[in-house]
Amino acid sequence: MHHFNYISGILHAENVDINTIIKAVGTPVYIYSSATIERHFKIFANAVGVPKNRVFYATKANANLGVLTTLARLGAGADVVSEGEIRKAQAAGIDPNNMVFSGVGKTARELAYAVSVGIYQINVESEGELELLSEIAASSGKRQDIVLRVNPDVGAGGHAKITTGSSANKFGVSFSEAERLYAKASNLAGVRCIGLAVHIGSQITELDALESAFVKMRSVVESLRSQGLHVERLDLGGGLGIPYEQQAPFAHGPDLIEAYAAMVMRVTDGLDVELGFEPGRLIVGNAGILVTEALYLNKRGNKNFLVVDAAMNDLVRPAMYEAYHEIWPVIEPVNATCHAYDVVGPVCESGDTFTSDRNLPEIAKGDLIALMSAGAYGATMSSTYNQRPLIAEVMVKGDQFVITRPRQTYEELIGTDVAPIWV
Ligand SMILES: *Cc1c(COP(=O)(O)O)cnc(C)c1O
Repeated sequence: MHHFNYISGILHAENVDINTIIKAVGTPVYIYSSATIERHFKIFANAVGVPKNRVFYATKANANLGVLTTLARLGAGADVVSEGEIRKAQAAGIDPNNMVFSGVGKTARELAYAVSVGIYQINVESEGELELLSEIAASSGKRQDIVLRVNPDVGAGGHAKITTGSSANKFGVSFSEAERLYAKASNLAGVRCIGLAVHIGSQITELDALESAFVKMRSVVESLRSQGLHVERLDLGGGLGIPYEQQAPFAHGPDLIEAYAAMVMRVTDGLDVELGFEPGRLIVGNAGILVTEALYLNKRGNKNFLVVDAAMNDLVRPAMYEAYHEIWPVIEPVNATCHAYDVVGPVCESGDTFTSDRNLPEIAKGDLIALMSAGAYGATMSSTYNQRPLIAEVMVKGDQFVITRPRQTYEELIGTDVAPIWV
């Protein structure tokens, strides 16, 4: 469910005509709907029992300040994976005391920063990190709350590159090591080990794998307690998927959230822990679109290559994960003839293809089209590859819109490089 619809034959973001935004900002541009973000966050938070439990929005899905401030105002916490994300979330008004810090490669500097700002929880992913963090915190006279991220050896997700919970993945401490490390952590001076975390993958639309991972986590909690160790938090990660295809056979959206919450409550029933959740894609995925202009239509044999002004550096998901994005023309097609198109960007890579042989209503040079469901892992994964400036991001609320990130200028693009002195 999202707030991008045709009104009088023109695609709107909430009540704003997409053409109005394009006239002001140009293409390509990401456009976000605040009503969609609010709706998803509220449904999720309500389903999982906030405020008894906590929701930490996974900042890496979309770190635009417009998105973060919208969520901050709703009381969302943040799941962060770098010092940059901590600082960005702080800039959006999220209190570090409402942040959890995940990631396999936290540096000493990042850990020190997190401890110094009083982060709510650090999700420790290895023995080396545990030792380093304890030293850092103890040396500044602090005792940092941590949970141990466990790899349950249950992988899941929409693509191999977004599976994180299998033992072949780099994330978390192995299931067999968890209890030894937990006991060790409980004896370190600089940390207070108070729980466990798990996150097995992304774009998960079937709950079986999540359930088996959570059942395993419950057994670890019970086993730790039977050894007299203290466990008060269980962070269940993110990973819930969204419908990238409206006509997809599986029914999810609110239904998936309700089923997920019911499963979680069943599996953790009577466990007496504070539950944490780290949804990213679920909150912002359908809340953003990427609008691009058709530059050329090149017919090659029986192929129609539609060259657009957005590229894989702006939205890498199709190239990286073979991801599917619906394509909606900004002007609503009425009884249009359909053709098979390869929609491609200008970047010098064959992988710079948004879709191949997609049946779409006829598109002409100069037409605007929207790549739908581009709100998660779109702008945050963008780069300046081919020296293409980062594109603008716009936030819509009702009948208003604001540019929440201006298009990068060529001066900004070139300005930070320095020629070596000997030249
Ligand atoms: C990426 C990530 C998330 C968010 O994943 P989604 O699939 O976007 O919900 C949550 N927790 C951790 C530790 C992550 O790395």
